[in-house]
Parts: sequence; C-alpha cells; structure tokens
Amino acid sequence: MDIVVQKYGGTSLGDLDKIKKVAKKIKDRKDSGDKLVVVVSAMGNTTDSLKSMACRLSENPKPRELDVLMSTGEQVSIALLSIALNDMGCKARSFTGHQIGLVTEGYHTKSKITDIDASIIFQELDKDNVVIVAGFQGINSNNEITTLGRGGSDTTAVALAAKLSAVCEIYTDVDGIYTIDPGLYPKARKLESISYEEMMEMASLGSGVMHPRSIEIGHNYKVPIYVAISTGECPGTFIKESDNSMEKTVITGLAVDNNDAMVTVNNFPYAVHSVSELFKGLAEKHINVDMISQTTPVDNKISVSFTIPRDDLDTALKSLKELESKTGSFITETDTNITKLSVVGMGMKTQSGVAARLFSVLAENSINIKIITTSEIRISCTIDPGDQAKAVSAIAEEFDL
Ligand code: ASP
Ligand code: MG
Repeated sequence: MDIVVQKYGGTSLGDLDKIKKVAKKIKDRKDSGDKLVVVVSAMGNTTDSLKSMACRLSENPKPRELDVLMSTGEQVSIALLSIALNDMGCKARSFTGHQIGLVTEGYHTKSKITDIDASIIFQELDKDNVVIVAGFQGINSNNEITTLGRGGSDTTAVALAAKLSAVCEIYTDVDGIYTIDPGLYPKARKLESISYEEMMEMASLGSGVMHPRSIEIGHNYKVPIYVAISTGECPGTFIKESDNSMEKTVITGLAVDNNDAMVTVNNFPYAVHSVSELFKGLAEKHINVDMISQTTPVDNKISVSFTIPRDDLDTALKSLKELESKTGSFITETDTNITKLSVVGMGMKTQSGVAARLFSVLAENSINIKIITTSEIRISCTIDPGDQAKAVSAIAEEFDL
C-alpha cells in the first residue's frame, strides 16, 4: 500500500460543488487501495480577499497579524473537505500546520519549513483515515503562526511527500507544464516530463505553475512530482530526475516574466568596495537581485545594471540613496518597462551555440536586448515589452517549442 500526497489548489476548491468533486476523487483513490494525505489551499481567491481586508484597515499591517489572518483560508478548506469526505462514508480528519508539527523559521509571510512531525500522520493513516493538511502554514519556534509565501501550499505538499517517502501529485487549474505559457503562445506543447533542474529555473523565472521552493525540496529529496488538472481528464507532466532522452532536446522551455524592474547606476566609482557595498545594501533590505551587468571602467567610473522584483523598487532606491553618503553621488536610472525571456534546457550543458542561435533570432527580428545573464542550463535576456509577442514566437519556432 503506497502513501500518496495529493495537493489541490484554490481554483479546484472554489465552491462547495467543487469541494464535493474533489472529495469524490479522493474517495475513489482511497477505495483503490492507496493511503492518502491531502494538502489543500484556501478556496478560490480567499487569500487575496483576506489580504485586501487587512490593507483596507492599515497601510502597513504587521506581518505577524497577516500570517494569523491569511492562514485561516486553508483552515476553512481542510474542515469543509473533511466534512464532505466523512459524509460520503470516507473516514477523514483535518489538521492545521501546527497540529502536524510543521515547524518553520525565518520571516513572517515568507517562512521556510524546517521540520514536520510525521508520527501524527502515520498514526492517522494506520487508523485508515485520509489525512487532510492545511497548506501554506506552520508554526515557528516562538509558537507563532507563520505562512510560507504566496503559493506556498505546493511546498507544504512536496515537503510532506519528502518526509513520508511518498509520491506527490499536484492538482491544479492547468493540465500540466508547457514549453511556454499557452496563454502567451497557444501553440506551446505540453511536456510529458521535465527535470527538477529545468522546472526549478522555469518556476523561479515566472512560469507560475508551481512554487519554486517546492521543486527545490523535490529535487533535494528526489520526490517524484506529477502535475495535472484536478478534474483528471488528461495526462499531466512528471517532474523527475533528468534522463538521457531529456537531454536530446537543447531547449525544454521558455519562461516570460513581466514583474521585474531594471536599475542602472551610472558614474559609479570604480573602487574595490563600491560594488560590494551596493549589493550589500540591497541584501540588507532582503531584495532579491537577479540579473547583473557591469561596464569596464572609463575615467575610474563604471555603470552597473541589475534587475529586481518591481515591488522592491522603492526600497532599492532608498538603499541607493543611503549608499551615496558612502560612495559620493552617482546617477540612478530605473526602467520598469522590461520583459525577461529565459530559455531553459539541460541540453545546453553539452551543446554549444545556443546563445548564438537565440541572439541571432532576436537580431533577425530587430529586437534589442537590454541585459543578459546565463547559468549552466539557462540564458535570460530582457527586452522591451512591446517586442514580447514577436520574440516569443520567433524563439518558439527556432527551438521547436
Ligand atoms: N492560499 C495561499 C495563496 O493563495 C497558498 C496557496 O494557494 O498555495 O498564496
Ligand atoms: Mg499555486
């Protein structure tokens, strides 16, 4: 008898009828002989509504209170799903993050899981119960309720699967992982499988299907993950270790991200500590820097460009103002008009010429590139958002996506 961790997202639990349908699916699966642990998100847009209520009461709600508030969404879902299951004659019990000892560390609203007490879950499974767990929430060492960051229920599910040595099935409102978001490129293909490494890049590059940290945990603990549509009407995508067949294609996917801003500091002093001071200032404000490029010095001055989440732009500008008191004045420019395109593929490790093909395709279409970064399995560049549609189809055709 296998233990299976399933996760149902908010859209699949949007109303009571949908909850009943999910319950029926869980019951059928249990009747087929599997032991089930089910992680759920809040119903529909509940988390957004809760957050907006807080923001209507205060411009600056305390993160601790936001966690207490936002974690209630999942508590409603676990109880309703358990009620529906028991009503169908399928034994189920619901648990909050606290009750299953899901311990976190770090900041409120973006905490990280450090441990889960699996013994409670095993006891419940032994009593033939479906165990229903609230996603997205935990408890820290000060006994405070915490949450894992938006979309964090995926991470709860994969972490539980790792702890229970189970497979993890993510049921969502899309029917799998595509080479490109089909909303941006309708001819995109659904992937039968994708490696953890590629999925990690795709997820953190703005392909919104899964919470990036869930894939990191999946990779570290080798959790087999299957992503599919909750109605189960067509096969989904497996996220697993890369095999040789995966490496035959050079590029597996293209991610598009419109949430970043670019900052350029011109006339910046070329001194040993100046660049490190710049990024230290941003790090102290917990700003995640993504792409970075620096020019060669002219008259002892350089230009440094970097991209950050657009939401962090004001904080970054404050940090740069503070920096001027240390380094002397420089000129700061911002550009919120950028689209980041990233091609991702394990095949890049072994095949040369991918960058040349990518940049040639953009050049042939008269698309200017603002900034470039690469990793072993990805090339990212930012372009003008007006060029996005043209760039996406040209890259898709070139790499057969
Ligand atoms: N309910 C939370 C959110 O909307 C967590 C999740 O859905 O994964 O972000
Ligand atoms: Mg999600």
